[in-house]
Amino acid sequence: MTERREIAVQGIVQGVGFRPFVYGLAQKHHLAGFVRNDNAGVMIELEGEPRALDSFVQSLGEAPPPLAKIERIACQAIAPKGESDFAIIESRADDQRQIAIVPDAATCDDCLRELFDPRDRRFRYPFINCTNCGPRFTIVKDVPYDRPLTTMAGFQMCAECEREYHDPANRRFHAQPNACPACGPQLILKTSGQAEAFGDEALVLAASLLKRGKILAIKGLGGYHLACSACDNEAVSRLRQRKQREDKPFALMTLDLDAVRRISSIDAAEESLVLSHQRPIVLLRKREPNPISAQVAPGQSRFGVMLPYTPLHYLLLDQCRLPLVMTSGNLSDEPIAFDDAEAFERLSAITDIFLLHDRPIHMRCDDSVVRVVASRQTVIRRARGYAPEPIAVAVPFVQPVLACGAHLKNTFCLGKERHAFLSHHIGDLENYETFDSFVNGIEHFKNLFAIEPLVIAHDLHPEYLSTKYAVSINGLTKIAVQHHHAHLASCMAEHGLGGPVIGVALDGLGYGDDGTIWGGEFLVATLSRYERRAHLRTVPLAGGDRAVRQPWRMAVSYLRDALGKDPLSLSLPGWNVISGKKIEIVTSMIQRGLNTVQTSSCGRLFDAVASIVGLRHEVNYEGQAAIELEMAAVEGVSESYPFEIGSTNPWKIDMRSTIDHLVREVRMKLPVGSMAAKFHNTLAAVIVEVCRRLRETDSLNRICLSGGTFQNEYLLQRVIAALQARGFEVYLNSQVPTNDGGIALGQAVVANAVVQQGG
Ligand code: ZN
Ligand code: ZN
Ligand code: FE
Repeated sequence: MTERREIAVQGIVQGVGFRPFVYGLAQKHHLAGFVRNDNAGVMIELEGEPRALDSFVQSLGEAPPPLAKIERIACQAIAPKGESDFAIIESRADDQRQIAIVPDAATCDDCLRELFDPRDRRFRYPFINCTNCGPRFTIVKDVPYDRPLTTMAGFQMCAECEREYHDPANRRFHAQPNACPACGPQLILKTSGQAEAFGDEALVLAASLLKRGKILAIKGLGGYHLACSACDNEAVSRLRQRKQREDKPFALMTLDLDAVRRISSIDAAEESLVLSHQRPIVLLRKREPNPISAQVAPGQSRFGVMLPYTPLHYLLLDQCRLPLVMTSGNLSDEPIAFDDAEAFERLSAITDIFLLHDRPIHMRCDDSVVRVVASRQTVIRRARGYAPEPIAVAVPFVQPVLACGAHLKNTFCLGKERHAFLSHHIGDLENYETFDSFVNGIEHFKNLFAIEPLVIAHDLHPEYLSTKYAVSINGLTKIAVQHHHAHLASCMAEHGLGGPVIGVALDGLGYGDDGTIWGGEFLVATLSRYERRAHLRTVPLAGGDRAVRQPWRMAVSYLRDALGKDPLSLSLPGWNVISGKKIEIVTSMIQRGLNTVQTSSCGRLFDAVASIVGLRHEVNYEGQAAIELEMAAVEGVSESYPFEIGSTNPWKIDMRSTIDHLVREVRMKLPVGSMAAKFHNTLAAVIVEVCRRLRETDSLNRICLSGGTFQNEYLLQRVIAALQARGFEVYLNSQVPTNDGGIALGQAVVANAVVQQGG
């Protein structure tokens, strides 16, 4: 009894060793037929005994190759052809553009074993890879995904590598970056433009320089890192100084899980993230005491830790046996350097030693950052390892969409059919280099995934460079999407929700539809529309960007609003650092409405509170005051401050009594930790109360929480627990950031819903 079946496999099944895997599986089950790539994924025809066919299909779904992600397997019976062999056949010429470009993946266990095996021909070769691991997205210049269209084009495979490449039974079958010491990229150590050493000698020298407290620029997968010993206080301080980064935390790289455990406490969910082939930076609770310099993550309760993800990292960490600071190779706010010439120009003032290689990086891509909160995985920065993997959407895109994202932490998103291709983290669109990588990134994605957008979505803010870009493109349907609606839609899209839902969007600043700046918003939303039902009562934001960098300005606003007084007449402790003159200027700006807008921002409320309690009056990076207020909050406090919710539509959440009580406690010199805790509890109570009222008026039970404020773990845990205890269904972002890095996905699905409903 012989049957023949046609099996169509969809998902991420190209460029991940799927065909040799199918080949091996067919051999094992004594099945004939063929496998080939097509424009929907992989097409298999199989002929043999029905039982063998069944167990083939089962194994296919249960244990695919590590980098593959199967979305759908469809089988149908066809007429047997009487074949006896199985073959991998070439894809047809018109079947060229599919989801063939996958994220970069960390060195696999097989390659790692060979890397440290003296008998292997790739022993200590820093560019070992196979179909299950290695560079992908960052080396691809064009499609189809074939070696000549990658940055490996300049390396001619030796006979031995060539043989592996063409052998379907080999782990390196069609591994485009396949290479060995005889034919592939080489390491170079350079000081002030001069090559000092090559190959293994370069590596050994680099490790000894790190041990001696030197700062190194190291070329990685998606760009350059700046590295130094994480235990060397003097080296870390020097790096901070030269990089002009005052106290934003540095990421760490350690050799293995044991080394991670020596500096942080880690649970099972975190462990699987640390070990995943995406190899993100995972934010882990610090273990005290630990040998890491206090300069690495000052004022933080967590370290950002990652394991090595390239063979070069493994060799280096193995050689120097030190936890290393691995921070992006840039000067303060510039994007990470990835081009060699550019790196020399930009990083020479920070480092004098470069450890690089001759495999070019085509696409700049930062390290990703993730965290586990309330046993859920959340992505804070989605980049290397995750991008450009598409996110499946429940409602297909009726027309191809380009969403341009926000201003800070920009990502863009291309949507087509059932997939949303959210870009890697581009950065803050505040300088030419970043804007340039935004524009080039869009062109690259359009080409890689064969998407020619007909609809372009953008933020409401007219001054965002991403908005200006969208407006400048002619011939496309333009759809403006409100910032907080986009935040909530990103969460709805992740969970396949169409709404209406209760949406709680709390963040720094986003342009509202009434010309004020929003950020403390309760919307009832579907994908296509929203109603603003409640928000934090507005206060003046005086001085634009300076109000963000100087939380004391928000404190002045809130104190005037709540008490009609300024911080000096209240003689708040710790305020002597701000001159009376400055406070007067801001007060008069507020009074005269000069360079002042009204805002309902939750982030700015955090700023005001951090400043009122004397914790921080000026910030060195976005969100610093809020982060430090969270760090200050002590456990075991259940009290909160009073607040009021108005009844005119939209309801105004009035925090004036909160500020009043806070000021009284500050003057009584109560501990900051308990005031910080009570403030967080108050905000949690506000959220629960507004949601409770919305449930009554609108009979809704599903709540989406989104926006940068929900990166606050103390707040988030309390809010989730309280809402769930009251029977609400709570949804959070997980695959895309809850901060502005997720906005583009939300914009894309909103634009699609608007188009679908005829605008
Ligand atoms: Zn491998
Ligand atoms: Zn070779
Ligand atoms: Fe936002």
